[in-house]
Amino acid sequence: MKILMIEDDLAIGRALLAVFQDEGHLVVWLRLADGVLARLQAETFDAVLLDLGLPDGDGAELLRQLRAAGQSLPVLIMTARDSLQDRLNGFNTGADDYLIKPFEIPELLARLRAIVRRANGNADGGWSFGELVLDESRMLVTRAGAPVALSRTEFALLLALVKESGRVLTRAELEQGVLPHSEGQTLDVHISNLRKKIGERLIRTVRGVGYMAQKPHE
Ligand code: CA
Repeated sequence: MKILMIEDDLAIGRALLAVFQDEGHLVVWLRLADGVLARLQAETFDAVLLDLGLPDGDGAELLRQLRAAGQSLPVLIMTARDSLQDRLNGFNTGADDYLIKPFEIPELLARLRAIVRRANGNADGGWSFGELVLDESRMLVTRAGAPVALSRTEFALLLALVKESGRVLTRAELEQGVLPHSEGQTLDVHISNLRKKIGERLIRTVRGVGYMAQKPHE
């Protein structure tokens, strides 16, 4: 996934950057509140990781401005301030989740995945991903409102990838979880057929590992 990280602490920022890059994520790292809104308006991100104490402003105020500007992407707040009031303020300003520093990296990754997954899903058992909407119970997909005809295997592959968007699904996971129901073609052939129907850029190939659903970036 593509993450906008706003963190002025060099040690924390560098550590997180290394972890995200290891996991195959794209990270844009900003150290000031100034410029964040412009960046979000210019590019598409899957999530924002936001420190509250910034040198040129308050992260909570920045978040208020983002929401007021119509930015609805998931935001995870990281903060050293652990008072109950700050927690409440964080949620009131439109944060999706909250982590108190110091935190464990695996917990950060799990929370981040959870808020991105929640943002991609919806309450009716359907899943939205960019222009795509998947109806799991009826095995229907629309792209920008128009129905897309997928085979059973293509639907199952797409659903698996969208449900875990932001995480690389390994070839073994996809082959064991989805392909037993396939019509005998290889994983790569199914992915290739799927891309022809839903657009080339939604499924990213992670060489030597597998595939990941990723929203196209401008
Ligand atoms: Ca800080």
